[in-house]
Amino acid sequence: MKTAFIYTNKYLKYTPPDNYPWSVRRAEATYNLCKRLGLLDHPWITVHQPSPLAQEALYNFHTKAYVSLLKEANDGHFKEEWLRYGLGTTECPVYKGVYEYNLLTAGATMDGAKLVKEGHVERAFNVCGGFHHAGKDFAAGFCYINDVVLAIKSLLSHYTRVMYVDIDAHHGDQVQQAFYSTDRVLTISFHQDPKTLFPFEGGDEKEAGRGKGRGYCINVPMAPGTGDDEFLWAFGEIFVPAAGAYKPGVVVAVTGVDGLATDPLSNLKLTTKAYTEAVEIICRYSPKLLVLGGGGYSLEHSSAAWTLLWATINGLGCSDEDMVSFGGAFWGDGICSLQSSPIFVSEKERKQTRNHLSRVVRRLKNEVLSLIK
Ligand SMILES: [Zn+2]
Repeated sequence: MKTAFIYTNKYLKYTPPDNYPWSVRRAEATYNLCKRLGLLDHPWITVHQPSPLAQEALYNFHTKAYVSLLKEANDGHFKEEWLRYGLGTTECPVYKGVYEYNLLTAGATMDGAKLVKEGHVERAFNVCGGFHHAGKDFAAGFCYINDVVLAIKSLLSHYTRVMYVDIDAHHGDQVQQAFYSTDRVLTISFHQDPKTLFPFEGGDEKEAGRGKGRGYCINVPMAPGTGDDEFLWAFGEIFVPAAGAYKPGVVVAVTGVDGLATDPLSNLKLTTKAYTEAVEIICRYSPKLLVLGGGGYSLEHSSAAWTLLWATINGLGCSDEDMVSFGGAFWGDGICSLQSSPIFVSEKERKQTRNHLSRVVRRLKNEVLSLIK
């Protein structure tokens, strides 16, 4: 098996406003941690330097009018009329280089798709990708260009069936929307119930696809406070049979780690255990796999979690002992443990979140999973 870690220091050239949560520093920190721990040194691993995407490639999803606005925004001067396209908000600010930055991150995801599609690697990882909220003509939720939709569209030229799995704390709304009426893409999103978190609508289990796409869209909304045991139970109940029935040629995964209990932007109570075990299962069901980072708003915890996910993608153990053996020399250098500390979830909260999730899972099993042929 060959794998590619996609990264360039050029990401660091672009500087969104101070305190902007989607920091390119997370990609840098993940790359540095992986490097320090020897997780990029194996003979089957390549570090791939991405190239910016050509403007024309954006038109496979985005409208020409929107792309031209985003291009104009590249000099950093805001125009009030752009607000209707979601540009210039606190979530999607206009700043110098905003267009170039998005061409580069989308290019990184598309390079990953290409490496997989052309058979150079079986698994590719772009930590600086997964902008699942960008619409065809608007920016939203830190996302300007939907690299996920672009990558899936390019994979559809080679594979009959693409499965998209999203374990970011937020609903993968615009990816779902883009493939809502087709059976060639199965979208599965596990997320905090949008009634309680951005994007504040949709993402419930009743949204299950339309027309030919009926049954090829699965949503697993989780109540605030959901912890590892409940999430992993639902993941096993839904993802495993769905992937087994669908038999995709390739899988695209958004592994936003903003569901970690330590994350400032969500209210889930997951730890790295939930993420590494879910990604291990995803790997098992993916003949080919493109993994994108997604959200994650604590620099330290996000980069630690993605480092563990990179180890998982490569079939390497990710216990603390394994990490010591990968890079023991660095262990005393400020890294205590990549694993999350255990999280306390009270019995009352556990019961509430479990009841909520049981209802969702039951409904999906009765009404949606059997539609996958
Ligand atoms: Zn998110």
